[in-house]
Amino acid sequence: MIDFSEFKILDDKTLKKLNEAIEEVLKEKHETKLDYDLIERLVSLVLSESHFIENLMIPSVPQFTQEQLVGYAIKFYQSFGGEIYKKALNTVLQLYPNIKLNIYDRKNPKILNRKNEFGHFEYTPAGQCCSTYGNVTLTVPLKKDYEEKNSSNRYSIDSLYTLVHEIAHSLDVDYEGERETILGKSLDDTRDYFCECTSIAFEYLLSQFLLDYSDIPKDAIQEHSILINNSTRRDAITVYAKLILAKEKEKSGKIDYRFVEKSMKEHHLFKCDIRDAAYSVIDSHFPAFYQARYAIGRLFAPTIVKAYNNKGPEAIERYLNEIKKGNVKNAASVLDIDIKSDGIAKLIKNMLDYESYISSKEFER
Ligand SMILES: [Zn+2]
Repeated sequence: MIDFSEFKILDDKTLKKLNEAIEEVLKEKHETKLDYDLIERLVSLVLSESHFIENLMIPSVPQFTQEQLVGYAIKFYQSFGGEIYKKALNTVLQLYPNIKLNIYDRKNPKILNRKNEFGHFEYTPAGQCCSTYGNVTLTVPLKKDYEEKNSSNRYSIDSLYTLVHEIAHSLDVDYEGERETILGKSLDDTRDYFCECTSIAFEYLLSQFLLDYSDIPKDAIQEHSILINNSTRRDAITVYAKLILAKEKEKSGKIDYRFVEKSMKEHHLFKCDIRDAAYSVIDSHFPAFYQARYAIGRLFAPTIVKAYNNKGPEAIERYLNEIKKGNVKNAASVLDIDIKSDGIAKLIKNMLDYESYISSKEFER
């Protein structure tokens, strides 16, 4: 006999849970002052214009000691010189009283829920940056490939990206100490839309740097860059699905199969997209729209990279100074973006340029 439940996108239990979870999303939507229409517009742009990149090669799997990873990160930040290098180096050397950096083996986090004097978790399973009034804690868990069986003290290339990503957050923190800006807090102003842009841009810049100047196999760097690309696109899909589900719940009081099927068709979503959105609401400890930061990061990061390539590290320094103060408009103009005129078209062009750079065949073995 045919099992018709196979055709269902969500089973009854999940649909019920989804309705409850979207209730929570709506609560957050009403409590925060974000411009959800703007988020929807930006995220839908990412979806309509960008692509998943298929990667069919089997990359080499380089492994690094913690010292090597830190060495690569320092060399990378050194290439910027100036304040950026100084701050990154001082962060790694733990010379600032207000920035803590914890690097540890992900399989051996000492005590997962230990908090430090700022009330930040010291060990987390994924990289994190917490900031409270200028006091910052960066957590960088190092990951091995084939973690279950691997007892060596060598770590995979994505640990390097985590390290560089979290250090970049410390470059981006508001030291005036007037407000809290980074992860773990609810989104409360425009500045928060942009808190992942810098870190994602530094990941992209790391790819460029490693491809040009390191002896790490190019296919491994390319593979990892494609993974970042695809995962931020997935974040955009999840946010978009949550937004349309929340709107429907608001309008009709509930989400039913008919609506889920209709919106899949209208918005070119797949079964897995709806399921991902459902589960990321049901199981999440994060703010409902936290993935929006990554989706927006994907849209802006390539333009930050472009500014670096055209104008050098000074452009990044100027961008950081503006974004730190919350001057998104000035930060955008440093990047040659005028949101009101052709800004969006430029962002999209740069996003597509970066996509084709990273999927370029020349990096393959
Ligand atoms: Zn981040």
